[in-house]
Amino acid sequence: MSIKFGSITNPWVDIIEELKLISKLEFDYAEVGIELPEGSPEILLRRKKRILKLLDSFKSEPIAHTAWWVDFGSGYDIVRKSWIEEAKNMIDVAKILKASKINFHFYSIGLVEDYKPYHKEILENIVKSLREVVKYADSKKMMVMLENSPTKRSNVGIKEYKYVLDNVPNLRVHFDIAHAFVENGMKGIKDYMFTFKNKIEHIHIHDNHGDADEHLSLGQGNINFEQVAKWLKQTDYNKTITFEVFTSKEAAKASMMGFRKLI
Ligand SMILES: [Zn+2]
Repeated sequence: MSIKFGSITNPWVDIIEELKLISKLEFDYAEVGIELPEGSPEILLRRKKRILKLLDSFKSEPIAHTAWWVDFGSGYDIVRKSWIEEAKNMIDVAKILKASKINFHFYSIGLVEDYKPYHKEILENIVKSLREVVKYADSKKMMVMLENSPTKRSNVGIKEYKYVLDNVPNLRVHFDIAHAFVENGMKGIKDYMFTFKNKIEHIHIHDNHGDADEHLSLGQGNINFEQVAKWLKQTDYNKTITFEVFTSKEAAKASMMGFRKLI
């Protein structure tokens, strides 16, 4: 099996137009944003006939991508439980769109603040919530993946990420290369790639200068993609890579062509 390359829908733009463009640019698959405002579960369901027809034009099945602010760690229990219910809705929609993998992000508003004693409780909430979400997804034959955060804060770094992975059975890794670069440069990328090499199910790739999550074309920032390609080969990675370049879909396509040569 060889690596498949995809592009992601922008939730701010009409989903049909996004899918048409991704298909026209000949990506292997589309990663569908189940995200407000244009990709809410309600909108996707309402338009599912046209969406499914477009998704059928791709070689490979879609991947489901949810909003980064879904907060499984919330210390407000009613809010946390509501996020679990919303996650189940998202899983149902992903299933209807014929995806078999869905991502959630390693994020909680409670981990953004510097009040350390609270972090343990938030992390435990994330673990507890994800166990329930993964159990539901398992019953629907949907794989749940957790995407690593673009942060320099140690409270949502690789150590905490690994803690969650180790404590939620069947939870898999969605590795965002550029997020790891923001966290700890090339060493950050290497650490994630080799620590989780047997659990990585999906990858996001884009570029930045190491300070913020810029989502640039490959080569516009400071990531050494030649090295990244070598590590991917060393770990025998052969699944999906989405070019999460936000400047334009054409820029994402150019990044894809360049990286395909490297790898
Ligand atoms: Zn990403």
